[in-house]
Amino acid sequence: MHELQATDRPLLEVKHVTKRFGGVVANHDISLSVERGTIVGLIGPNGSGKTTLFNCIVGHHPIDEGEIWFKGQEISRYRVDHIARMGLVRTFQQTHIFGRMTCIENMLTSLPPARRGLRDLFGHGRRADRARALELLEFVGLYSKRHHQAGSLSFGQQKLLEFAMALMNEPEMLLLDEPTAGINPTLINGLVDRLRRANSEMGITLLVIEHNMRVIMNMAEYIYCLAHGELLASGPPEDIRNDQRVIDAYLGVS
Ligand code: ADP
Ligand code: MG
Repeated sequence: MHELQATDRPLLEVKHVTKRFGGVVANHDISLSVERGTIVGLIGPNGSGKTTLFNCIVGHHPIDEGEIWFKGQEISRYRVDHIARMGLVRTFQQTHIFGRMTCIENMLTSLPPARRGLRDLFGHGRRADRARALELLEFVGLYSKRHHQAGSLSFGQQKLLEFAMALMNEPEMLLLDEPTAGINPTLINGLVDRLRRANSEMGITLLVIEHNMRVIMNMAEYIYCLAHGELLASGPPEDIRNDQRVIDAYLGVS
């Protein structure tokens, strides 16, 4: 019965979440939900609280008010590693890779500590983990670079590597913080295509912070827009695109 209830509900539910940093209210009374299997966008001008909300959801920041639910379970006070083990994983606005390690070594470091050791990093790793790492490097188009130092990759390739590293944890849901930021426009389509395939072929639910309006309008089926730490608007892309409040927020009109 518990299982039935869990599947009836959205995969992720943020309920009236408030997060303060001293006097700054970075998130004020934010509520949103993400259905399993969907791609949802989170947009808003710089400083509107998007990254903070991600940090709250994955347990990196304790929240001051509200509740966060994942798979029908309240996770508001769980730690980052516990939440990651439940299948909810984030990527960062800046890349978090080890530049002097090879791509395959970076892939193996992204496994939870219990599944790796020094032997895994510098030896061959568990055969299944290594096979999975190679499969995912192939998936993001980095197989030929598997023995190259990650630091020698272009920024766009490093973002692809980071995406593949997040997939190593077999997430049910990924929170992606500006995946296309700083990427050469010609590589953006390739990355977006991989994100879509992770959703359609691997069944991974995506919540994506994205500044590139063309990208997010094409990718997401539903979009939430934040401004000044508050939820300003939400709806399908075509509604958001034409929402005067959203347009004003981006133009800096208050
Ligand atoms: P966005 O990702 O939408 O650009 P952020 O969530 O990074 O916005 O920031 C929202 C607000 O919270 C900003 O005013 C920022 O300065 C503040 N903020 C974010 N993280 C911290 C922190 N760790 N300590 C203090 N203030 C923070
Ligand atoms: Mg941010």
